[in-house]
Amino acid sequence: MNFNDSERIIRIAEDLKFKRVENRFEADLVIVNTCGIRQSAEDRVIGIVPKLKKKRPDCIIIITGCSAHRKDFQKKLASSASYFIEILELPQFLKKLARTKMKSKNEKQKEKSLLTQSADFFKISPLPSSTFSAYVPIMTGCNNFCSYCVVPYARGREFSRPSKDISQEIKQLVATGYKEIILLGQNVNSYQPELSKNEKIANFPTLLEKIDQISGVFWIRFLTSHPKDMSNDLIKLIADSRKITNYIHLPFQSGSNRILKLMKRKYTIEHYLKLITKIRIKIPQVALSTDIIVGFPGETKEDFGKTAQVMKTVGFDMAYISAFSSRPGTIANKMEDNVSEIEKKERKRILTEILKQTAFENNQKYIGEKVKVLIEKKKTSPSNKCIYLGKTETYKNIRINLSTSQSVKVGEFLKVKVTGAGIFGLEGIMLR
Ligand code: SAH
Ligand code: SF4
Repeated sequence: MNFNDSERIIRIAEDLKFKRVENRFEADLVIVNTCGIRQSAEDRVIGIVPKLKKKRPDCIIIITGCSAHRKDFQKKLASSASYFIEILELPQFLKKLARTKMKSKNEKQKEKSLLTQSADFFKISPLPSSTFSAYVPIMTGCNNFCSYCVVPYARGREFSRPSKDISQEIKQLVATGYKEIILLGQNVNSYQPELSKNEKIANFPTLLEKIDQISGVFWIRFLTSHPKDMSNDLIKLIADSRKITNYIHLPFQSGSNRILKLMKRKYTIEHYLKLITKIRIKIPQVALSTDIIVGFPGETKEDFGKTAQVMKTVGFDMAYISAFSSRPGTIANKMEDNVSEIEKKERKRILTEILKQTAFENNQKYIGEKVKVLIEKKKTSPSNKCIYLGKTETYKNIRINLSTSQSVKVGEFLKVKVTGAGIFGLEGIMLR
């Protein structure tokens, strides 16, 4: 989500004729788009910004994003940041900044057209950093208030984009050659736009169905889904569609019902496991990933054991495992953060070992299979051989060795036979 916001900020800045430089120490203006999910992300900003200011005292430093409005965060950067601006207000702010820099008559005329552009942040087309894969936000904010999470405070309540705008953006991307569309939302299953007169798209499955009907050869991915809102309609749609990829990211956070209740997740682990069974029956080839928090306040060894057991039972392809980080303003911030950092680290290590095992076992099953791959990168090996890196429909990294006579383009789909598998990905050869 933040990455896509940054792509919009870059678009605004480029439209306003700011020039991009490679090294931040050479810039006259630096915009820092913050993420407040974990303390470590904020600590990085607190580390970078004063250094930048010291080296370039004349540089304008704008802090935006999730943490920009928080007083305690602002205090830590008070002597080095120039401005703290809410992301929705950033377009207008940058226009004002550009205006003060526009001196000539010619430039002043440009200014007029810039100022008539829409201030609606979602209406700004992002400047995608890729030529074949694009993020498309469908909703933002969150109404769930999980006890550990800063998102509802940092991003506000849920807002869903009109389905017409989303379809139009995707049609344009597909027409210009994009092969992968990644729909974004804090909880995509809560998608619920305000309907105008003739509109019928009222929920996420109906939106997906509409996107699925857009002509062209492309993959549709989406994240994140909340286990309490994952419907049978959605599972059926994924199973029936050729464009919606067989990959589901479904965070479970903890395997202990006691902790899930304290986290205010609003489902039980039995509900989660039933969902997984349903998904696997309808979509046998599915790949599954998840998010987990270890060391939530009061998490005992027994609670943690239940999380480890769920990891083994489900056998995930990927898991994003975080140590609990107490966030200002959240409900869990009032609880005692009583699992030591060493113990959190150890719990992370144990889960990572389980993940390595299950991902390896799952990857082994691909050997000998023919898969469709989206080529993402070209590399040259030390022995001067061409190696292409890509992703399968199930979001597996795959490395493809080609002979010198074979050539493919980045951003192209390719048929590949899988010849090897490790913990973090597959290997294959090209089929034509
Ligand atoms: N909406 C998604 C998650 C968005 S936040 C969902 O409900 O699943 C992405 C992930 O960051 C979360 O799934 C959680 O695992 C992690 N996270 C959020 N707040 C955290 C915190 N305070 N400490 C550690 N990890 C956190
Ligand atoms: Fe945060 Fe929970 Fe909302 Fe996800 S559902 S963004 S974890 S509050």
